[in-house]
Amino acid sequence: MEKVIIIKYAELSTKNDNINFFLRTLKNNITNKLEGLDFSITYDYGRMVIETSSLELVLNRLQEVFGIHEICVGYKLNDKDLDIIKNKILFLIKDKTFETFRVTVKRSDKKYPGTSVEIAKEIGAHILKNTNNKKVLMTNVDLNVFVEIRLNDVFVYFNGIPGLGGYPISTLGKGLLMLSGGIDSPVAGYLAIKRGVKIEAIYFDSPPHTSQMAFNKVKDLARKLSLYNGTVKIHVINFTKIQEEILKKIPKYYLITMMRRAMYQISAIVASKINAHVIINGECIGQVASQTLKSMKVINECIKIPVIRPVCTYDKLEIIALAKKIDTYNISIRPYADCCTIFVPEHPVIHPDLKLVHEYEKLVDFKALFYEAIKTRKIFEISENDKNDFQGIL
Ligand code: ATP
Ligand code: MG
Repeated sequence: MEKVIIIKYAELSTKNDNINFFLRTLKNNITNKLEGLDFSITYDYGRMVIETSSLELVLNRLQEVFGIHEICVGYKLNDKDLDIIKNKILFLIKDKTFETFRVTVKRSDKKYPGTSVEIAKEIGAHILKNTNNKKVLMTNVDLNVFVEIRLNDVFVYFNGIPGLGGYPISTLGKGLLMLSGGIDSPVAGYLAIKRGVKIEAIYFDSPPHTSQMAFNKVKDLARKLSLYNGTVKIHVINFTKIQEEILKKIPKYYLITMMRRAMYQISAIVASKINAHVIINGECIGQVASQTLKSMKVINECIKIPVIRPVCTYDKLEIIALAKKIDTYNISIRPYADCCTIFVPEHPVIHPDLKLVHEYEKLVDFKALFYEAIKTRKIFEISENDKNDFQGIL
């Protein structure tokens, strides 16, 4: 019996109008993920089937693809005789531990005798007759037996391993992730990717105040995200001059408010350049002075593009748990300062005043500084395999 992989979709079935687009995208994403392996994919509205000679490797990689609800290993039977199918199923379940079960049959071969329900009943009866103390239930069963009768063969499969859920990457458009070396922003990026958003990242660097090690953290975080996103482009903005000007000309307690408005405005321009629909960041309500609701409102006032904050209602411990799960935590806690931490005043304003902000903003020629910073940005392409990293200037 040949093994095959059966993929069940997550949430796709609700997308009646554009289900084909979702499935095509999922197939492309899986194809990219399995690059270099020998495999073939077929699909219909119910599930995707992968045939491969590298079962273990494919199973591992599928666990990094969004849009998958469950991954099952199935068996391909070339003989469609019902008695043979029944006996093969008995053979396949003999080592499985279960008390309750359910048989579900799908008959893609419409000429096959009997309805799906009749065939399921017959297989179920056969299992009951040849096992001890098993019970058939319709829901919450220990063992699901799926039988799919196709034109030329039959698939039999059981409960699988959970997929990542979410939507296939790119199906919901593009977002620009403000990626610092901290704990929150990579988690925010992961959550956005999970909802089908393809991300590019922007990082504000302040050499010589921040080190190459700080940027290496960001690259390593982007590499973790590239497992799910595919290659992650990082737009690196030299933020030094802007920070120094703010520091020189604007009262210290407004420094963070101003810095963050500058970051937002530059991010908005870069987002429009790359056709991103939203900015994504790791802000979390109340975490620091710039993340009170009043601060967020005043900072957000300078741009029109929506800002998505996937972790804004999470507790820090919840964010950390997710960071550990996606393996970014140990990178994020490496001790290199980033541009926000080095200039932080002791008492940043918690309830900034928008009128004052507008007054202070007149003291610096931000337009020219933004233009320069965006023009000289460097772009890095970070992939799962660092040999494929690319650096360029646009
Ligand atoms: P994180 O929030 O990722 O743990 P952090 O705590 O250092 O990092 P905050 O000061 O909380 O960052 O900033 C809030 C958000 O602003 C970050 O989550 C990130 O999205 C963005 N941000 C902060 N600093 C930078 C930077 N140097 N480059 C890009 N984005 C940044
Ligand atoms: Mg934070």
